[in-house]
Amino acid sequence: MSWLTEYVRPKIRTLLGRRDVPENLWIQCPACQQMIFHTELEKNLKVCTHCGHHMRARAAERLAWTFDQGLFTRIELPKAPTDPLRFRDSQRYADRLRTARETLHQDDALLVAHGTIGGQRAVVGALEFGFMGGSMGAAVGEGIVAAARLAVLQDAPLILFTASGGARMQEGAVSLMQLPRTIIASRMVKEAGLPFITVLTDPTTGGVSASFAMLGDIQIAEPGALIGFAGARVIEQTVREKLPEGFQRAEYLLEHGIVDMVIKRTDLAATLSRLINLLRVKDLAEVAEAT
Ligand SMILES: [Zn+2]
Repeated sequence: MSWLTEYVRPKIRTLLGRRDVPENLWIQCPACQQMIFHTELEKNLKVCTHCGHHMRARAAERLAWTFDQGLFTRIELPKAPTDPLRFRDSQRYADRLRTARETLHQDDALLVAHGTIGGQRAVVGALEFGFMGGSMGAAVGEGIVAAARLAVLQDAPLILFTASGGARMQEGAVSLMQLPRTIIASRMVKEAGLPFITVLTDPTTGGVSASFAMLGDIQIAEPGALIGFAGARVIEQTVREKLPEGFQRAEYLLEHGIVDMVIKRTDLAATLSRLINLLRVKDLAEVAEAT
């Protein structure tokens, strides 16, 4: 028996081992289960080359994909009080924050940058779902206010990419206060006569969908994105009815007038450029008329 265990088995392992492809080179699409070579996937902006499924993207990737030639300047966001309630569930909130910061190399769930889109100045903010579910606490609220101020200062449109589970429960009422604050921020941009565009990506739920996310002059969604307030199961239990197919998905919301357009990620930068162009040219025409 010994030759079987000592010789044959290791030999088989080596054979199998040699055929193994390093895991990080191939990624399996969660929708169609096909394998995609990771460089192909990156080139296609994390959209499955087989079925078109839009995989979740990092906030930094959003910025790189949106600005011309991937060039932008990130701004430092104001510091918010850390752990105002000294919250603890199975873990201390302060510890959760530290882990997220160390893993993602960013202070909180929002990144804000400025640059050009289609040659025109723009300010873009993007929520990072990987950072505590992209949840909105005081730091994200502060960040959105800062982004709005920057847009007004630069006379540039504000574009916000959402990917969030909602308010950050570890900050309780402080987190809920960010709903009116971000609404005021969006108003600042509108009152300055600047376009405010939101891009709702998978998933956009809870307090984020209940505040600035739904206030865009134009609301764009990515194909298949889950967008809603409460979870489908909770709604089903409350209304005691079976929900229609595709409920809370981008396409369903487009049919029902909640979003204005559903745009493929690969067409997004061009669409944003076109929209900014249209909205800004119209601004100029109005100025010309007035003078
Ligand atoms: Zn796929």
